[in-house]
Amino acid sequence: MSADNHADNHSEGTLGYETQAVQVGIPRGLGDGVGIPIHQIAAFQFETLEDGASEFQLNTGYSYARLQNPTVKALEERVTALEGGAATVALSTGQAASFTAMLSVCRSGDHIVATSSLFGGSAGLLNNILPLMGITASTVANTPEAVRAAMQPNTRLVWAETIGNPAADIADIASYAEIAHSQGALLGIDNTWGGVGYLCRPLEHGADMVTHSLTKWAGGHGSVMGGSLTVGTGHDLSRSPIYTEGTPSILDTRGDSALGWRQRWFGAHQLGMTLAPNSAFLIAQGLETLSLRLSRESATALELANFLEAHTAVGTGAGSGVAYPGLESSPHHALAVKYLKGGFGAVLTFEVNEPAPFLAALKVIRMAPNLGDTRTLVVHPWTTTHGRMPESARYAAGVTPRTIRMSVGVEAPEDLKRDLDQALKAGQAAAQTAVLI
Ligand SMILES: *Cc1c(COP(=O)(O)O)cnc(C)c1O
Repeated sequence: MSADNHADNHSEGTLGYETQAVQVGIPRGLGDGVGIPIHQIAAFQFETLEDGASEFQLNTGYSYARLQNPTVKALEERVTALEGGAATVALSTGQAASFTAMLSVCRSGDHIVATSSLFGGSAGLLNNILPLMGITASTVANTPEAVRAAMQPNTRLVWAETIGNPAADIADIASYAEIAHSQGALLGIDNTWGGVGYLCRPLEHGADMVTHSLTKWAGGHGSVMGGSLTVGTGHDLSRSPIYTEGTPSILDTRGDSALGWRQRWFGAHQLGMTLAPNSAFLIAQGLETLSLRLSRESATALELANFLEAHTAVGTGAGSGVAYPGLESSPHHALAVKYLKGGFGAVLTFEVNEPAPFLAALKVIRMAPNLGDTRTLVVHPWTTTHGRMPESARYAAGVTPRTIRMSVGVEAPEDLKRDLDQALKAGQAAAQTAVLI
């Protein structure tokens, strides 16, 4: 995909994505540092009794770093700009962001509709944690028909991921928004694989909130953990009792900022899943090169997907092969072209006949459970990320004992190709030896 193609992602008149990524959050004035400084500070001073009372009332400045810290705030402004949102709360992990998002619109008795190709931790929240609070969830196929059929009168949230894991399927965000809104629910999108608005901006397609594991492409170097929850503009809370009941209601007192206010209140103030300033600094710095990394990683991923699709040691079983939304053979390619700009993402999955000898033979590519690192990483989902799910659920999610998930880094593509080729051949040789014996 060309750079031009990416440019349509952004409205005219505002600065381009790449410019905002290096500029937002940095003051411009005599003596200001050219970058975001680390405020390694837990508490902020008041001069008068009135200062303290006012800050505790309004929370517009700084008092105590569980609530807000200038380094974290600068990161939040940057993420808000890159996602085209209204406000962001940065939290300690992606998991904290998803939990806060779900809890910000649901309470006991409420219901969530989620699509089945979910990150394992999100499935864990829906299946194990939220039921403890009386919130139930239906997990359904990643199609508008299935989502529509699962909606209930008490459904408050529809939840999906931009690019599903590991099936590489694409959420039809605009359709999900229409279904959710027609029934008074909101749409939340885990946009981690959409690269903080670089590949996809769900808010522009009707989503009401987006979350990120900033641990992945935002931090970008496998060195820091974080999460974010960004709320869009124009969401309708008028059919959401937790916002409308009481006099005055939260909606009365907070207006358009009610949802963002509650998310910060829950995630940071009350639950204390606050992001550390050092981590905020590393993530903000990572965002400055995200566009460069993810465009390169996406191009390499497409090259490797084509290479693997043609390799004799890949995908010999029925219905198996390479799953990558950039491949024209992918059943999700049309939706990928509709929702992704600037590339089709850095993750691909493929099936190998002999996973153990293949993985053991890799020399450049490393085996580790992370995504969005500068280094190419693989995992065997059947025994790791999806290992605790029932077998039938693993198959339903597109995971088989032969599936390999790969997050492509910024290495020389030729080195990755050679490494995959020699490891696939080692796997084949092991299989032949086994047959001979
Ligand atoms: C990693 C990941 C998460 C969780 O993020 P953490 O930072 O590990 O808590 C959530 N969603 C997706 C899609 C992820 O890849």
